[in-house]
Amino acid sequence: MQGNTVPPTGRIDLILDELNRQRFANASAMQCKVCWYVYDPEIGCEEWDIEPGTSFNDLPEHFTCPQCGNDKSVFLPCEKENGD
Ligand SMILES: [Zn+2]
Repeated sequence: MQGNTVPPTGRIDLILDELNRQRFANASAMQCKVCWYVYDPEIGCEEWDIEPGTSFNDLPEHFTCPQCGNDKSVFLPCEKENGD
């Protein structure tokens, strides 16, 4: 390891990241767009020993979809309640 080789991060990235976090935090559940598995924070995930009440943001970094094995980046908000 030598020097700082990490590329500079534009603020827009930080803003988008924050917006995503807020979107995810507001979502009641997250759905894998590959296999349609739904992670429901109220239920947790037995496969990963995730206790009920654990929000998607609080899942460990090594969490992957228990059905297809893809990582958290393939999950999208799955809004059960539609206010429109
Ligand atoms: Zn999946």
